[in-house]
Amino acid sequence: MLTGTLQDWLDSNVTGLRISCNRCGHHPLVPVWYLVSRLGATTTYKEIETAMKCSKCGGKNVTAERMRERDPTLAWNAKKVT
Ligand SMILES: [Zn+2]
Repeated sequence: MLTGTLQDWLDSNVTGLRISCNRCGHHPLVPVWYLVSRLGATTTYKEIETAMKCSKCGGKNVTAERMRERDPTLAWNAKKVT
């Protein structure tokens, strides 16, 4: 279970959220700045979790991992935050 607000994540250099769909395997990387621009920096993970669903198959059984990008311009070069 992830905790905190989007601002907390930015403060600890978390720059992306890897959403993995447990039904179809779709796993997009969503930049935190995009979530902030859509939802606001005070949004908590719990609020995001209840709203998350797969953009490909519509499944709600998804897993999220926080990612830290080594280079912010290279989304595919992200490293999992533990
Ligand atoms: Zn899916």
